[in-house]
Amino acid sequence: MKERTLAILKPDCLEKKVQGKVIQLIIDAGFAIKGMRLLQLSEDSAKKFYAIHKDRPFYGELVAYMTSGPVVPLCLEKENAVADFRKLIGATNPANADEGTIRKMYADSIERNIVHGSDSPENAKNEIAHFFNDSDLV
Ligand code: ADP
Ligand code: MG
Repeated sequence: MKERTLAILKPDCLEKKVQGKVIQLIIDAGFAIKGMRLLQLSEDSAKKFYAIHKDRPFYGELVAYMTSGPVVPLCLEKENAVADFRKLIGATNPANADEGTIRKMYADSIERNIVHGSDSPENAKNEIAHFFNDSDLV
């Protein structure tokens, strides 16, 4: 059964100008792009998106980083999309990410790690709704 997940190409991905390469890796891994936007996150929107981390020590820096430049949210679809996308991006800390993963290839640090991926189907639904109306999705 097809499943959807939410990806975000983070500000460092666009700063490094590797968004085209990362999108190609996503397509080559079999994900269909159902929605794609280019936008600047407001502080309020970033805080809301990462509210689950509001008590973590890195929350303030995370919000500052995610609002430091434009981002590209993507709604992706394939079978087992949530788990398979987490596999494709690799561990949060690129130092621990497997060879061939997007974070291993492109990320600099545990914070500036190029890409977001939803961690459960339930969170994916909420995260997709953060950026897309149903009518925006193809
Ligand atoms: P993931 O993005 O792999 O799901 P988390 O949900 O744990 O990771 O964290 C959300 C984001 O917060 C990470 O992708 C990263 O940008 C940042 N982050 C996570 N842990 C740290 C940390 N220890 N120090 C700084 N930033 C962090
Ligand atoms: Mg997470």
